[in-house]
Amino acid sequence: MNIQIISATLCSLISCMVLTSPAQQQPSPTISVEKIKGNIFQVKGGSGANTGFFVADKEVVVIDAKMSEESAKQMIGEIRKITPNPITQIILTHSDGDHVNGLVGFPTGIDIISHDNTREHLVKAFVTDQQLAHLPTTTFSDKLTLHLGIGKKDTKIDLLYFGPAHTNGDVVVFFPEEKVAFIGDLLFLGRDPLIHRAKNGTSFGLVKVLKALLSLDADIYASGHNELTTKKEIQDFVQSVMDKQAKIQTMVAAGKTLDDVKKAFNIETPPGGSRWPSLVEVIYLELTEKK
Ligand SMILES: [Zn+2]
Repeated sequence: MNIQIISATLCSLISCMVLTSPAQQQPSPTISVEKIKGNIFQVKGGSGANTGFFVADKEVVVIDAKMSEESAKQMIGEIRKITPNPITQIILTHSDGDHVNGLVGFPTGIDIISHDNTREHLVKAFVTDQQLAHLPTTTFSDKLTLHLGIGKKDTKIDLLYFGPAHTNGDVVVFFPEEKVAFIGDLLFLGRDPLIHRAKNGTSFGLVKVLKALLSLDADIYASGHNELTTKKEIQDFVQSVMDKQAKIQTMVAAGKTLDDVKKAFNIETPPGGSRWPSLVEVIYLELTEKK
């Protein structure tokens, strides 16, 4: 099967590793904006993952940057229809290309905020001068709070890190007053989660992080590749990952091989290999590495 078709399909369905050549990109759905709550918005369509933005009194904070310069500019155009306030900060939920490659569509000089490890991934991945001009300018390890607005009526945005999961730089963007959280690619509904082992992601870490998300006082969760969700969907999702981990743990204890496990879960490797290992394979490797 054509590798470009495989990667383009995966990119549109899930997320890309950093950098996708223009030849791999396909026509994208029209970009659209949906109000989540108050001044918090979600942007869907265009190329790349869902993004978001928050309109403060004097500025705009963007969450993730789309996958292409064109889509980023379309997103900026949509923001302009709502407010003339300047974009002062872009928060990155993690380093995957469908969340960060659009950074080059934003003017330079905007404060780009990420986890320490996400910046490290981007230092490795970014090569052009234009990309390097859009490396994160502010990073943090556990928690960073932004205060936006004027005086006592400020809006607080908590940037939270709960440990490695999808990657080792997944940031949760939490609006405590509005009870809205942007969670990047920590959630995949209707399919297995993607774990980037090359970026030190882990399935057992994902379970821990998802439980931390459930303990947040949030009502609405916005993610990169799903509709808006509530705690119920996250609860079901974490349970499905834990069920798989338990089943594979039993098989590992019984001395089963990776092939046995893959067979039991009907995991087929496409001709030419997969772009990313399946969740089943990731769990097996994590369990056997611990021994
Ligand atoms: Zn991702």
